[in-house]
Amino acid sequence: MPKIKVKTSIVDISGDEMANVIWGKIKTDLILPFLDINLLTFDLGIVNRDKTNDTVTSEAAKAIKKHKTGVKCATITPDDKRVIEYNLKKKYPSPNGTIRNILSGTIFREPIIINNIPKFVPHWDQPVVLARHAFGDIYKSKEIEIKKKGKVFLKYESDDKKEVVEKEVYNYKSSGVALSYFNVDDSIIDFAKSCFHYSLKRKLPLFLSTKNTILQKYDERFKNVFDSLYKKEFKKKFDKKKISYQHRLIDDMVACMMKWSGGFLWACKNYDGDVMSDLIAQGYGSLGLMTSELQSSDGKVLETEAAHGTVTSHYRQHKKGLDTSTNPIASIFAWTRGLTHLSNIDKNDALKKFATNLEKICIKTVQNGKMTKDLALMVGPDQKWINTNEFFLILKKELSSLN
Ligand code: NAP
Ligand code: MG
Repeated sequence: MPKIKVKTSIVDISGDEMANVIWGKIKTDLILPFLDINLLTFDLGIVNRDKTNDTVTSEAAKAIKKHKTGVKCATITPDDKRVIEYNLKKKYPSPNGTIRNILSGTIFREPIIINNIPKFVPHWDQPVVLARHAFGDIYKSKEIEIKKKGKVFLKYESDDKKEVVEKEVYNYKSSGVALSYFNVDDSIIDFAKSCFHYSLKRKLPLFLSTKNTILQKYDERFKNVFDSLYKKEFKKKFDKKKISYQHRLIDDMVACMMKWSGGFLWACKNYDGDVMSDLIAQGYGSLGLMTSELQSSDGKVLETEAAHGTVTSHYRQHKKGLDTSTNPIASIFAWTRGLTHLSNIDKNDALKKFATNLEKICIKTVQNGKMTKDLALMVGPDQKWINTNEFFLILKKELSSLN
């Protein structure tokens, strides 16, 4: 069969360690034999980031902004140990942070559901997609320690000094602590737009959770921004797709999440998103089955990746020449979700079908009992596992029989 011709280029970001070995195999076994596609490849491996003084990371982000679709392999965020291990010039920031700052979008995390893989929450048979507002709140807070009696104030002063608002926070009778944090409307609006666009694209009902009964100005602002945008720009589109938007108290939302069977998008404030994304990942089971997408507020730019890291422990085995049983599914889904976005830009039905088929093949293979060790351990002691190369061989054979 001839390869599927793809007109629009895709930004391909390679990364580190075992994740990067898998990334290479995805391209050589599952993408390039079937697609006639132009890959704009950026090497974000830690060695090249060091060599380029990390300029390669912002170049990659700018390329995604320009070409609209990027797929990214997991990368090392160096700590002190990594600086020594790779003899780095400095402790570079997280590439994901740099890319997110340039694309300024929202991250959506989604579990991949396979019905023979047991979940800790067994009735979650559809995904809970979680969107985290990754700006402000406690992550940009100022905190102080109070040593003795005295007052703490919250004060705002406009640049022209004409407006001053000052409130006493607390009158301390003894030692204690205090904290202040902030957010800005532009960021909340961008977050809301990203969520509405994502809901529409995936045909998922949307819920925003806040604690607006307590924070009647702060959290109420989140609710108001979502409510008014929904009424003005999105309600008709939601009605057409038979989906809805609702605000719920965070307490009520966590209870619903446990009761419901999934199948919705949950917009979380920054801290809630940080905590709940790990809870949801664990509820569904495996890091090897969790994807992560960064989408711009207008829905036009998409960067996709697996939610897991570079899988260092497996890479150590791999370097000794040993086979590993590393799960490539989340990385493969990074490609299929990126290719689906590209198929809309390219108006390319054959490409869309290819991406859907590749996802179906991954799921079918696991359902047929062929899986990597992480999943087999979840199924039970009698479940056999295969290594990564064997898993790729099956996928490639299945894809070839379709194309
Ligand atoms: P990790 O790479 O996600 O691995 C943690 C453990 O989870 C692994 O040791 C492995 O458990 C299991 N695991 C994760 N992905 C798996 C897969 N695909 N198949 C099978 N098992 C899998 O997290 P980490 O060890 O904390 O971090 C390693 C490096 O990744 C760090 O340098 C960190 O900076 C980076 N990181 C990058 C990203 C990103 O680029 N988005 C995200 C997170 C971390 P077993 O060893 O028990 O098999
Ligand atoms: Mg966290």
